[in-house]
Amino acid sequence: MNPVSSNAPRTGRGLSVGLASLMDARQAEERGAAAAPSPGAAATAAATGTPVTPRAFTCRCGRPVFFGNSQCLACHTPLGYDPDSHRLLPLEPAGPALTEAHRRGASPPEAFWREVGAEATATRWRRCRNLDTAAACNWVVAEGDTVSGDPPLCRSCRLTRTVPDLSVPEHAGWWNRIETAKRRLVSSLIGLQLPVLSRMNEDPQRGLVFDLLRAAPGAPPVTTGHADGVITLDVEEADDAWREQRRAALGEPYRTLLGHLRHETGHYYWQRLVQGSRWLRPWRVQFGDERQDYAAALRRHYLQGPRPDWGQHFVSAYASSHPWEDWAETWAHYLHLVDTLDTARSFGLDGERVELHYERYSVKDLGTGEGAQAREFLKLMHNWMELTGVLNELSRSMGVPDFYPFVLSLPAVRKLFLVHRVIAATHSAAQVVTPAGRRSVEVAP
Ligand SMILES: [Zn+2]
Ligand SMILES: [Zn+2]
Ligand SMILES: [Zn+2]
Repeated sequence: MNPVSSNAPRTGRGLSVGLASLMDARQAEERGAAAAPSPGAAATAAATGTPVTPRAFTCRCGRPVFFGNSQCLACHTPLGYDPDSHRLLPLEPAGPALTEAHRRGASPPEAFWREVGAEATATRWRRCRNLDTAAACNWVVAEGDTVSGDPPLCRSCRLTRTVPDLSVPEHAGWWNRIETAKRRLVSSLIGLQLPVLSRMNEDPQRGLVFDLLRAAPGAPPVTTGHADGVITLDVEEADDAWREQRRAALGEPYRTLLGHLRHETGHYYWQRLVQGSRWLRPWRVQFGDERQDYAAALRRHYLQGPRPDWGQHFVSAYASSHPWEDWAETWAHYLHLVDTLDTARSFGLDGERVELHYERYSVKDLGTGEGAQAREFLKLMHNWMELTGVLNELSRSMGVPDFYPFVLSLPAVRKLFLVHRVIAATHSAAQVVTPAGRRSVEVAP
Protein backbone atom coordinates (compact mmCIF):
# COMPACT_ATOMS: atom_id res chain seq x y z
CA MET A 1 0.00 0.00 0.00
CA ASN A 2 1.15 3.49 -0.61
CA PRO A 3 -0.18 5.69 2.15
CA VAL A 4 1.27 8.86 0.66
CA SER A 5 -0.96 10.59 -1.82
CA SER A 6 0.74 11.96 -4.90
CA ASN A 7 -1.79 14.75 -4.96
CA ALA A 8 -0.67 16.02 -1.60
CA PRO A 9 0.71 19.53 -1.97
CA ARG A 10 4.26 19.71 -3.17
CA THR A 11 4.80 22.66 -0.95
CA GLY A 12 3.23 23.73 2.29
CA ARG A 13 2.92 27.25 1.00
CA GLY A 14 -0.17 28.72 -0.48
CA LEU A 15 -2.49 26.28 1.26
CA SER A 16 -5.71 28.18 1.72
CA VAL A 17 -9.33 27.26 1.52
CA GLY A 18 -12.45 29.41 1.37
CA LEU A 19 -13.55 28.16 4.77
CA ALA A 20 -15.71 31.22 5.38
CA SER A 21 -17.86 30.14 2.51
CA LEU A 22 -18.17 26.71 4.09
CA MET A 23 -20.38 28.32 6.69
CA ASP A 24 -22.68 29.90 4.15
CA ALA A 25 -24.83 26.85 3.79
CA ARG A 26 -27.89 28.81 2.85
CA GLN A 27 -26.21 30.44 -0.09
CA ALA A 28 -24.96 27.05 -1.16
CA GLU A 29 -28.45 25.63 -0.83
CA GLU A 30 -29.78 28.34 -3.11
CA ARG A 31 -27.34 27.17 -5.71
CA GLY A 32 -28.04 23.52 -5.00
CA ALA A 33 -31.78 24.10 -4.94
CA ALA A 34 -31.67 24.56 -8.66
CA ALA A 35 -32.59 20.95 -7.87
CA ALA A 36 -33.41 18.50 -10.61
CA PRO A 37 -30.60 18.50 -13.15
CA SER A 38 -31.46 18.40 -16.82
CA PRO A 39 -30.23 15.50 -18.95
CA GLY A 40 -26.50 15.77 -19.35
CA ALA A 41 -26.15 17.86 -16.22
CA ALA A 42 -24.05 15.22 -14.53
CA ALA A 43 -21.46 15.45 -17.26
CA THR A 44 -21.42 19.22 -17.35
CA ALA A 45 -21.43 19.69 -13.58
CA ALA A 46 -17.65 19.66 -13.61
CA ALA A 47 -17.64 22.68 -15.85
CA THR A 48 -20.29 24.66 -13.96
CA GLY A 49 -19.40 23.63 -10.43
CA THR A 50 -23.05 22.85 -9.71
CA PRO A 51 -23.54 19.75 -7.57
CA VAL A 52 -25.12 16.84 -9.41
CA THR A 53 -26.65 15.61 -6.14
CA PRO A 54 -26.82 18.54 -3.70
CA ARG A 55 -25.99 17.76 -0.07
CA ALA A 56 -26.78 21.07 1.70
CA PHE A 57 -30.38 22.02 2.42
CA THR A 58 -32.31 24.66 4.32
CA CYS A 59 -35.32 24.15 6.56
CA ARG A 60 -38.39 26.39 6.49
CA CYS A 61 -36.93 28.05 9.61
CA GLY A 62 -33.79 29.01 7.68
CA ARG A 63 -31.45 26.66 9.49
CA PRO A 64 -29.20 24.23 7.64
CA VAL A 65 -30.45 20.64 7.48
CA PHE A 66 -28.74 17.59 6.03
CA PHE A 67 -29.30 14.68 3.66
CA GLY A 68 -30.03 12.17 6.43
CA ASN A 69 -32.35 14.35 8.57
CA SER A 70 -35.99 13.26 8.99
CA GLN A 71 -36.82 16.25 11.15
CA CYS A 72 -35.37 19.72 11.73
CA LEU A 73 -33.62 19.63 15.09
CA ALA A 74 -34.44 23.31 15.66
CA CYS A 75 -38.12 23.73 14.69
CA HIS A 76 -39.12 20.01 14.51
CA THR A 77 -40.60 20.30 11.02
CA PRO A 78 -40.69 16.82 9.43
CA LEU A 79 -38.27 16.51 6.52
CA GLY A 80 -38.39 14.06 3.62
CA TYR A 81 -35.89 13.46 0.82
CA ASP A 82 -37.22 13.26 -2.74
CA PRO A 83 -34.53 11.43 -4.74
CA ASP A 84 -35.91 12.50 -8.11
CA SER A 85 -35.61 16.24 -7.49
CA HIS A 86 -32.63 15.77 -5.10
CA ARG A 87 -34.34 17.93 -2.48
CA LEU A 88 -34.91 17.59 1.25
CA LEU A 89 -38.49 18.82 1.62
CA PRO A 90 -39.92 20.46 4.76
CA LEU A 91 -43.28 18.72 5.11
CA GLU A 92 -46.70 19.55 6.50
CA PRO A 93 -49.72 17.28 6.84
CA ALA A 94 -51.91 16.96 3.74
CA GLY A 95 -54.62 14.64 5.08
CA PRO A 96 -56.24 12.42 5.99
CA ALA A 97 -56.70 13.75 9.49
CA LEU A 98 -53.69 13.09 11.66
CA THR A 99 -53.78 11.37 14.99
CA GLU A 100 -52.04 12.54 18.12
CA ALA A 101 -49.22 10.09 17.29
CA HIS A 102 -48.68 11.82 13.95
CA ARG A 103 -48.48 15.16 15.66
CA ARG A 104 -45.80 13.83 18.01
CA GLY A 105 -43.67 12.99 14.98
CA ALA A 106 -44.65 9.41 14.16
CA SER A 107 -45.38 8.97 10.50
CA PRO A 108 -47.78 6.14 9.81
CA PRO A 109 -47.67 5.37 6.13
CA GLU A 110 -51.30 6.21 5.45
CA ALA A 111 -50.58 9.85 6.22
CA PHE A 112 -50.00 12.23 3.33
CA TRP A 113 -47.67 15.16 3.37
CA ARG A 114 -47.10 18.22 1.23
CA GLU A 115 -44.10 20.49 0.96
CA VAL A 116 -44.50 23.42 3.35
CA GLY A 117 -46.05 26.35 1.51
CA ALA A 118 -46.91 24.32 -1.61
CA GLU A 119 -50.25 24.81 -3.37
CA ALA A 120 -53.14 22.49 -2.60
CA THR A 121 -52.67 20.85 -6.00
CA ALA A 122 -48.97 20.15 -5.45
CA THR A 123 -47.64 16.59 -5.14
CA ARG A 124 -48.69 14.74 -2.02
CA TRP A 125 -46.03 12.56 -0.46
CA ARG A 126 -45.98 9.48 1.71
CA ARG A 127 -43.09 8.60 3.93
CA CYS A 128 -41.12 5.43 3.28
CA ARG A 129 -42.33 2.37 5.20
CA ASN A 130 -38.87 2.12 6.72
CA LEU A 131 -38.98 5.50 8.49
CA ASP A 132 -39.90 3.93 11.80
CA THR A 133 -37.79 0.78 11.40
CA ALA A 134 -34.09 0.37 12.20
CA ALA A 135 -33.36 1.50 8.62
CA ALA A 136 -34.63 4.98 9.68
CA CYS A 137 -35.30 6.00 6.08
CA ASN A 138 -36.18 9.66 5.54
CA TRP A 139 -37.09 9.34 1.85
CA VAL A 140 -40.55 10.08 0.48
CA VAL A 141 -42.68 8.49 -2.22
CA ALA A 142 -45.02 10.48 -4.47
CA GLU A 143 -48.72 9.69 -4.29
CA GLY A 144 -49.56 7.51 -7.27
CA ASP A 145 -46.23 5.71 -7.37
CA THR A 146 -47.79 2.36 -8.09
CA VAL A 147 -44.74 0.13 -7.68
CA SER A 148 -43.83 1.33 -4.20
CA GLY A 149 -46.26 -1.02 -2.42
CA ASP A 150 -48.55 -0.20 0.44
CA PRO A 151 -47.27 1.00 2.81
CA PRO A 152 -44.75 2.35 0.31
CA LEU A 153 -41.06 1.64 0.04
CA CYS A 154 -38.85 4.38 -1.40
CA ARG A 155 -36.55 4.03 -4.39
CA SER A 156 -33.65 2.93 -2.17
CA CYS A 157 -35.49 0.60 0.24
CA ARG A 158 -37.30 -1.24 -2.56
CA LEU A 159 -33.90 -2.39 -3.83
CA THR A 160 -33.30 -4.45 -0.68
CA ARG A 161 -34.58 -7.99 -1.20
CA THR A 162 -33.20 -9.66 1.92
CA VAL A 163 -32.79 -8.01 5.31
CA PRO A 164 -30.69 -9.63 8.06
CA ASP A 165 -32.61 -11.48 10.78
CA LEU A 166 -33.70 -8.62 13.05
CA SER A 167 -34.27 -10.92 16.03
CA VAL A 168 -30.47 -10.99 16.40
CA PRO A 169 -29.67 -7.97 18.59
CA GLU A 170 -26.74 -6.53 16.61
CA HIS A 171 -28.44 -6.77 13.24
CA ALA A 172 -30.69 -3.72 13.64
CA GLY A 173 -27.73 -1.38 14.03
CA TRP A 174 -25.88 -3.04 11.15
CA TRP A 175 -28.90 -2.80 8.88
CA ASN A 176 -29.16 0.91 9.72
CA ARG A 177 -25.54 1.51 8.71
CA ILE A 178 -25.96 -0.43 5.47
CA GLU A 179 -29.17 1.35 4.43
CA THR A 180 -27.64 4.72 5.32
CA ALA A 181 -24.70 3.99 3.01
CA LYS A 182 -27.05 2.64 0.35
CA ARG A 183 -29.22 5.79 0.34
CA ARG A 184 -26.09 7.85 -0.19
CA LEU A 185 -25.10 5.61 -3.09
CA VAL A 186 -28.57 5.43 -4.68
CA SER A 187 -29.05 9.20 -4.53
CA SER A 188 -25.80 9.64 -6.47
CA LEU A 189 -26.74 6.99 -9.05
CA ILE A 190 -30.06 8.78 -9.61
CA GLY A 191 -28.22 12.11 -9.82
CA LEU A 192 -25.95 10.65 -12.50
CA GLN A 193 -29.10 9.52 -14.36
CA LEU A 194 -28.12 5.87 -14.26
CA PRO A 195 -30.87 3.24 -14.37
CA VAL A 196 -31.77 2.33 -10.76
CA LEU A 197 -34.78 0.03 -10.82
CA SER A 198 -35.70 -2.78 -8.46
CA ARG A 199 -35.37 -6.25 -9.91
CA MET A 200 -38.29 -7.32 -7.71
CA ASN A 201 -41.05 -5.11 -9.09
CA GLU A 202 -39.74 -2.53 -11.54
CA ASP A 203 -37.42 -4.31 -13.98
CA PRO A 204 -37.33 -8.10 -13.35
CA GLN A 205 -34.92 -8.69 -16.26
CA ARG A 206 -32.32 -5.99 -15.79
CA GLY A 207 -33.04 -4.39 -12.41
CA LEU A 208 -30.94 -4.43 -9.26
CA VAL A 209 -31.48 -5.95 -5.80
CA PHE A 210 -29.46 -6.26 -2.62
CA ASP A 211 -29.34 -9.34 -0.40
CA LEU A 212 -27.96 -8.44 3.03
CA LEU A 213 -26.84 -11.77 4.46
CA ARG A 214 -25.03 -13.26 7.42
CA ALA A 215 -23.69 -16.77 7.46
CA ALA A 216 -25.41 -19.15 9.86
CA PRO A 217 -23.10 -20.54 12.59
CA GLY A 218 -20.91 -23.24 11.06
CA ALA A 219 -21.99 -22.38 7.50
CA PRO A 220 -19.54 -21.14 4.86
CA PRO A 221 -18.96 -17.38 5.01
CA VAL A 222 -21.09 -15.04 2.89
CA THR A 223 -19.16 -13.66 -0.06
CA THR A 224 -19.79 -10.03 -0.90
CA GLY A 225 -20.25 -9.82 -4.65
CA HIS A 226 -22.47 -9.30 -7.66
CA ALA A 227 -24.18 -11.72 -10.04
CA ASP A 228 -26.70 -10.68 -12.71
CA GLY A 229 -28.20 -7.73 -10.88
CA VAL A 230 -28.04 -9.30 -7.40
CA ILE A 231 -25.61 -7.65 -5.01
CA THR A 232 -24.83 -9.74 -1.94
CA LEU A 233 -23.34 -8.02 1.07
CA ASP A 234 -21.93 -9.83 4.10
CA VAL A 235 -23.63 -7.78 6.83
CA GLU A 236 -20.68 -8.33 9.17
CA GLU A 237 -18.99 -5.60 7.11
CA ALA A 238 -21.20 -3.23 9.16
CA ASP A 239 -19.37 -4.34 12.32
CA ASP A 240 -16.61 -1.74 12.64
CA ALA A 241 -14.23 -3.95 14.61
CA TRP A 242 -14.62 -6.90 12.26
CA ARG A 243 -14.24 -4.72 9.14
CA GLU A 244 -11.13 -3.00 10.53
CA GLN A 245 -9.62 -6.39 11.25
CA ARG A 246 -10.27 -7.47 7.65
CA ARG A 247 -8.87 -4.20 6.32
CA ALA A 248 -5.64 -4.63 8.26
CA ALA A 249 -5.32 -8.34 7.37
CA LEU A 250 -5.70 -7.56 3.66
CA GLY A 251 -3.41 -4.51 3.83
CA GLU A 252 -6.07 -2.20 2.43
CA PRO A 253 -5.85 1.56 3.05
CA TYR A 254 -9.64 2.02 2.83
CA ARG A 255 -12.55 -0.31 3.58
CA THR A 256 -16.08 1.01 4.14
CA LEU A 257 -19.68 -0.06 3.57
CA LEU A 258 -20.13 2.72 1.04
CA GLY A 259 -16.97 1.63 -0.75
CA HIS A 260 -18.22 -1.97 -0.94
CA LEU A 261 -21.61 -0.92 -2.28
CA ARG A 262 -20.09 1.42 -4.87
CA HIS A 263 -17.67 -1.30 -5.98
CA GLU A 264 -20.41 -3.91 -6.43
CA THR A 265 -22.60 -1.53 -8.45
CA GLY A 266 -19.57 -1.19 -10.72
CA HIS A 267 -19.95 -4.87 -11.64
CA TYR A 268 -23.69 -4.37 -12.20
CA TYR A 269 -23.24 -1.36 -14.48
CA TRP A 270 -20.45 -3.11 -16.39
CA GLN A 271 -23.04 -5.71 -17.41
CA ARG A 272 -25.63 -3.06 -18.22
CA LEU A 273 -23.53 -0.41 -19.92
CA VAL A 274 -20.37 -2.05 -21.26
CA GLN A 275 -20.94 -5.75 -21.95
CA GLY A 276 -22.02 -6.27 -25.55
CA SER A 277 -21.97 -2.51 -26.22
CA ARG A 278 -19.84 -0.25 -28.38
CA TRP A 279 -17.83 0.49 -25.22
CA LEU A 280 -16.39 -3.01 -24.98
CA ARG A 281 -13.56 -2.41 -27.45
CA PRO A 282 -12.28 0.87 -25.88
CA TRP A 283 -12.90 -0.73 -22.49
CA ARG A 284 -10.52 -3.61 -23.29
CA VAL A 285 -7.87 -1.12 -24.43
CA GLN A 286 -7.93 0.49 -20.98
CA PHE A 287 -8.77 -2.41 -18.68
CA GLY A 288 -7.60 -5.52 -20.55
CA ASP A 289 -9.35 -8.69 -21.64
CA GLU A 290 -12.01 -9.72 -19.13
CA ARG A 291 -12.22 -13.20 -20.70
CA GLN A 292 -9.17 -14.38 -18.75
CA ASP A 293 -10.02 -16.89 -16.01
CA TYR A 294 -11.63 -14.85 -13.23
CA ALA A 295 -11.50 -17.49 -10.46
CA ALA A 296 -7.85 -18.27 -11.21
CA ALA A 297 -6.99 -14.53 -11.23
CA LEU A 298 -8.54 -13.99 -7.80
CA ARG A 299 -6.87 -17.10 -6.41
CA ARG A 300 -3.53 -15.84 -7.68
CA HIS A 301 -4.15 -12.41 -6.15
CA TYR A 302 -4.91 -13.79 -2.69
CA LEU A 303 -2.07 -16.34 -2.79
CA GLN A 304 0.71 -14.26 -4.32
CA GLY A 305 -0.41 -10.68 -3.68
CA PRO A 306 -0.62 -7.93 -6.29
CA ARG A 307 1.98 -7.34 -8.97
CA PRO A 308 4.73 -5.11 -7.57
CA ASP A 309 4.14 -2.23 -9.98
CA TRP A 310 0.37 -2.05 -9.44
CA GLY A 311 0.61 1.56 -8.21
CA GLN A 312 1.69 2.73 -11.67
CA HIS A 313 -1.33 1.22 -13.42
CA PHE A 314 -4.25 0.73 -11.01
CA VAL A 315 -6.28 2.72 -8.47
CA SER A 316 -5.76 -0.02 -5.86
CA ALA A 317 -3.86 -3.26 -5.38
CA TYR A 318 -7.06 -5.27 -5.66
CA ALA A 319 -7.81 -3.60 -9.01
CA SER A 320 -4.76 -5.40 -10.43
CA SER A 321 -6.33 -8.84 -9.83
CA HIS A 322 -8.59 -8.93 -12.92
CA PRO A 323 -10.01 -6.41 -15.47
CA TRP A 324 -13.50 -6.70 -13.90
CA GLU A 325 -12.11 -5.80 -10.47
CA ASP A 326 -10.09 -2.99 -12.02
CA TRP A 327 -13.31 -1.55 -13.49
CA ALA A 328 -15.28 -1.98 -10.24
CA GLU A 329 -12.53 -0.29 -8.21
CA THR A 330 -12.24 2.54 -10.75
CA TRP A 331 -16.03 2.93 -10.84
CA ALA A 332 -16.10 3.18 -7.03
CA HIS A 333 -13.41 5.87 -7.16
CA TYR A 334 -15.40 7.83 -9.70
CA LEU A 335 -18.43 7.73 -7.37
CA HIS A 336 -16.25 8.73 -4.38
CA LEU A 337 -15.00 11.65 -6.38
CA VAL A 338 -18.36 12.85 -7.73
CA ASP A 339 -20.17 12.61 -4.38
CA THR A 340 -17.38 14.20 -2.36
CA LEU A 341 -17.06 17.08 -4.83
CA ASP A 342 -20.86 17.45 -4.81
CA THR A 343 -20.80 17.74 -1.04
CA ALA A 344 -17.93 20.22 -1.08
CA ARG A 345 -19.63 22.33 -3.73
CA SER A 346 -22.96 22.18 -1.89
CA PHE A 347 -21.27 23.90 1.04
CA GLY A 348 -19.37 26.39 -1.07
CA LEU A 349 -16.05 24.58 -0.68
CA ASP A 350 -14.37 23.18 -3.74
CA GLY A 351 -11.11 22.86 -5.55
CA GLU A 352 -11.71 26.19 -7.27
CA ARG A 353 -11.06 27.93 -3.96
CA VAL A 354 -7.98 25.93 -3.08
CA GLU A 355 -4.54 27.19 -3.94
CA LEU A 356 -2.36 24.14 -4.35
CA HIS A 357 0.49 23.43 -6.69
CA TYR A 358 0.36 20.06 -8.36
CA GLU A 359 0.93 18.53 -11.73
CA ARG A 360 -2.02 18.93 -14.06
CA TYR A 361 -3.00 16.51 -16.76
CA SER A 362 -3.66 17.68 -20.30
CA VAL A 363 -6.21 16.58 -22.88
CA LYS A 364 -3.33 14.93 -24.73
CA ASP A 365 -2.53 12.82 -21.66
CA LEU A 366 -5.99 11.28 -21.81
CA GLY A 367 -5.30 9.98 -25.29
CA THR A 368 -8.93 9.53 -26.27
CA GLY A 369 -12.23 11.34 -26.18
CA GLU A 370 -13.60 14.48 -27.67
CA GLY A 371 -12.01 17.78 -26.60
CA ALA A 372 -14.82 19.46 -24.65
CA GLN A 373 -15.59 16.31 -22.72
CA ALA A 374 -11.93 15.73 -21.94
CA ARG A 375 -11.54 19.30 -20.67
CA GLU A 376 -14.65 18.90 -18.56
CA PHE A 377 -13.33 15.67 -17.07
CA LEU A 378 -9.92 17.21 -16.38
CA LYS A 379 -11.56 20.03 -14.48
CA LEU A 380 -13.30 17.44 -12.32
CA MET A 381 -9.99 15.60 -11.76
CA HIS A 382 -8.06 18.75 -10.95
CA ASN A 383 -10.73 19.89 -8.49
CA TRP A 384 -10.53 16.44 -6.91
CA MET A 385 -6.76 16.58 -6.53
CA GLU A 386 -6.93 20.06 -5.03
CA LEU A 387 -9.68 19.08 -2.62
CA THR A 388 -8.14 15.78 -1.50
CA GLY A 389 -4.76 17.49 -1.07
CA VAL A 390 -6.36 19.76 1.55
CA LEU A 391 -8.51 17.03 3.08
CA ASN A 392 -5.47 14.78 3.55
CA GLU A 393 -3.68 17.61 5.33
CA LEU A 394 -6.73 18.11 7.55
CA SER A 395 -6.70 14.39 8.38
CA ARG A 396 -3.02 14.60 9.32
CA SER A 397 -3.82 17.56 11.58
CA MET A 398 -6.23 15.32 13.46
CA GLY A 399 -3.87 12.35 13.45
CA VAL A 400 -6.32 10.12 11.60
CA PRO A 401 -5.64 8.14 8.41
CA ASP A 402 -5.60 10.10 5.18
CA PHE A 403 -9.04 11.07 3.89
CA TYR A 404 -8.13 9.80 0.40
CA PRO A 405 -5.26 7.32 0.77
CA PHE A 406 -4.72 6.69 -2.93
CA VAL A 407 -2.36 7.71 -5.69
CA LEU A 408 -3.84 8.28 -9.13
CA SER A 409 -1.39 7.35 -11.87
CA LEU A 410 -2.01 8.47 -15.46
CA PRO A 411 -3.30 5.03 -16.54
CA ALA A 412 -5.77 5.14 -13.62
CA VAL A 413 -6.89 8.63 -14.67
CA ARG A 414 -7.47 7.36 -18.21
CA LYS A 415 -9.63 4.58 -16.82
CA LEU A 416 -11.60 7.08 -14.75
CA PHE A 417 -12.14 9.05 -17.96
CA LEU A 418 -13.67 5.98 -19.56
CA VAL A 419 -16.06 5.64 -16.58
CA HIS A 420 -16.94 9.32 -17.05
CA ARG A 421 -17.63 8.81 -20.76
CA VAL A 422 -19.73 5.69 -20.26
CA ILE A 423 -21.90 7.47 -17.66
CA ALA A 424 -22.17 10.64 -19.78
CA ALA A 425 -23.31 8.54 -22.74
CA THR A 426 -26.33 7.29 -20.79
CA HIS A 427 -27.67 10.86 -20.79
CA SER A 428 -28.02 10.97 -24.52
CA ALA A 429 -29.60 7.51 -24.66
CA ALA A 430 -33.32 7.13 -25.14
CA GLN A 431 -35.54 8.10 -22.22
CA VAL A 432 -38.30 5.71 -21.24
CA VAL A 433 -41.19 5.97 -18.82
CA THR A 434 -41.10 3.41 -16.03
CA PRO A 435 -44.19 1.71 -14.63
CA ALA A 436 -44.03 4.20 -11.78
CA GLY A 437 -44.35 7.05 -14.25
CA ARG A 438 -40.80 8.21 -13.58
CA ARG A 439 -38.38 9.00 -16.31
CA SER A 440 -35.40 6.75 -16.31
CA VAL A 441 -32.55 6.12 -18.65
CA GLU A 442 -32.74 3.20 -21.01
CA VAL A 443 -29.35 2.38 -22.35
CA ALA A 444 -29.03 1.04 -25.84
CA PRO A 445 -26.92 -2.13 -25.92
ZN1 LIG B 1 -36.41 24.08 10.97
ZN1 LIG C 1 -36.80 4.08 2.24
ZN1 LIG D 1 -15.47 -6.92 -7.30
